[in-house]
Amino acid sequence: MIETPVLIAGGGPVGLTASILLSQHGIASLLVERHPGTAILPKARGINARTMEMYRQIGVEADIRAAGLPPERTGLIVWTESLAGREIERRVPGRADPRNIGHSPVRNCLCAQDDLEPVLRRHAEAAGPGMLRFGTELTGVSYGPEGVSGTLTDRASGAEIPVRARILISAEGAQSGLRHAIGARMVGRERVYDSVNILIRADLRPWTTHRPAALYFVEQRDLRGTFMTINMHDRWGFLIHSLTAYGMKPEDLTPERCAAFIRQAVGVPDLPVEVKGVSVWQASAIVADRYRDGPVFLAGDAAHEMPPTGGFGLNTGVQDAQNLCWKLAAVLRGQADAALLDSYHAERQPLATMITEAALLNATSMGRETRQEGAVLPRREFLNEQGLIFGATYRSAAIVPDGTDPPAPADPVTEYIPSATPGRRAPHVPLTRGGAAISTIDLLGRGFVLLAGSAGGAWVEAAARIATPTRPGVVPHRIGGDLVDTGGGFHAAYGIGPAGAVLVRPDGHVGWRSADGAADATGALVGAMDRILGRAA
Ligand SMILES: Cc1cc2nc3c(=O)[nH]c(=O)nc-3n(C[C@H](O)[C@H](O)[C@H](O)COP(=O)(O)OP(=O)(O)OC[C@H]3O[C@@H](n4cnc5c(N)ncnc54)[C@H](O)[C@@H]3O)c2cc1C
Repeated sequence: MIETPVLIAGGGPVGLTASILLSQHGIASLLVERHPGTAILPKARGINARTMEMYRQIGVEADIRAAGLPPERTGLIVWTESLAGREIERRVPGRADPRNIGHSPVRNCLCAQDDLEPVLRRHAEAAGPGMLRFGTELTGVSYGPEGVSGTLTDRASGAEIPVRARILISAEGAQSGLRHAIGARMVGRERVYDSVNILIRADLRPWTTHRPAALYFVEQRDLRGTFMTINMHDRWGFLIHSLTAYGMKPEDLTPERCAAFIRQAVGVPDLPVEVKGVSVWQASAIVADRYRDGPVFLAGDAAHEMPPTGGFGLNTGVQDAQNLCWKLAAVLRGQADAALLDSYHAERQPLATMITEAALLNATSMGRETRQEGAVLPRREFLNEQGLIFGATYRSAAIVPDGTDPPAPADPVTEYIPSATPGRRAPHVPLTRGGAAISTIDLLGRGFVLLAGSAGGAWVEAAARIATPTRPGVVPHRIGGDLVDTGGGFHAAYGIGPAGAVLVRPDGHVGWRSADGAADATGALVGAMDRILGRAA
């Protein structure tokens, strides 16, 4: 019998990130992945700036960048009749606009999933106390208020070991059996279109180097596809869209047939092409109507499936893990009430619904559902989703409202207005420390953090005092002490006066704010922590 506080089913990006996060919170977990290794095909490649902020905060960013391509080398989106033929249009995605880049100290990164997962696996294995077992499948799960039990099957030997855990995270992807076991209903549209993901080795530099892009769409009468940049040289993904609408059957997609489609899409009939992998998949736009039942939590594609148009599946999934893991850690350490865990669904499910709807609208605007005559270019929101990336507003019992409303942009998909209204991502403000550039974002992400105004010394002293064995500590910073607000923008960006303070949760979202000083700073802060941690109404 194996016993572990947290069992993670699935070693994709979401499960691996959950393992790293739990280890950093000091919580032991066991991750099981039924495949012998990490992904063998690139699926996701676009790691957005918000996700990269999290990976910076947990020390993984540099290794992801080393495995991927910098945004400067993939700064365009190109539409062509064929790669060697007429260019229809090229766009700089809104996400690359200098105004939008300024929302974060961290840029997005293009890193193919089969390059990303080994990085995450290495960090998860190095972190500890979390453990990982590849080639091991979780089956036969039952659960009740006390926890979860199931069977771990070694896929090579067939050996079975019973397992018990207090918490189970299903990071099993779209095939999650647990989403059905907990009675979740998947709401939305299933099977919006079908597609095939082909990994190739071919030197496409002659048609790409002069216009470095993340995506090269090919729009032909009988073939609509996308070249997905991986290394900008000889490793590329190719998606053929809407197979059924174009009369293609999965069984026809032999490696030879795929190579012929790729030569047609490049427009070079004798191009040397090696097909390394072929995977047929279906795009759905569905979100679970419950993310949790008792000790079982859904995260990532297990909780939501969305068309990849917009590049949100992985990003939304690993941010689920970011939201969930600090809450699990606080509850398992006896530093929060179990009620805190209810905020996971309350905060993440509505956001996933909004993102999934946007991804579906992108796909629809690109004419993915039916056969098209001629090119169909996407709506302007496509890859211009700053609002969805940075502008999430959580509303739950783990957020203490301060009576203010978050800004209401005209277009919540494309527009991000920085704000530290409780529930929002704590905004980026450039600072210096010891002369070195640093961002407010760099102060966050491992535990609770208090950011106090320049005259907020009382808050700093209070924060340093409130940790007890049953209450997590808070790391305080006064902006205006060793942290210099070089641009003078901190107080306005955080909506506080010099004597005010903001309490930021370990996931980088503002949990509480006091625009000004308080007669009893310690009492106010303890009250805020208790509410966030589910201990007070
Ligand atoms: C063509 C394409 C392009 C995409 N592009 C992007 C993009 O640019 N950006 C983006 O954010 N997203 C993108 N996505 C989506 C992204 O790939 C997924 O959202 C992401 O893989 C989800 O991660 P996950 O960890 O939830 O699930 P998965 O990656 O599916 O991993 C789940 C893992 O769980 C394992 N497993 C399942 N059941 C069990 C069990 N019982 N026991 C043990 N192991 C189990 C599986 O073997 C699998 O390895 C794209 C997807 C596709 C198809």
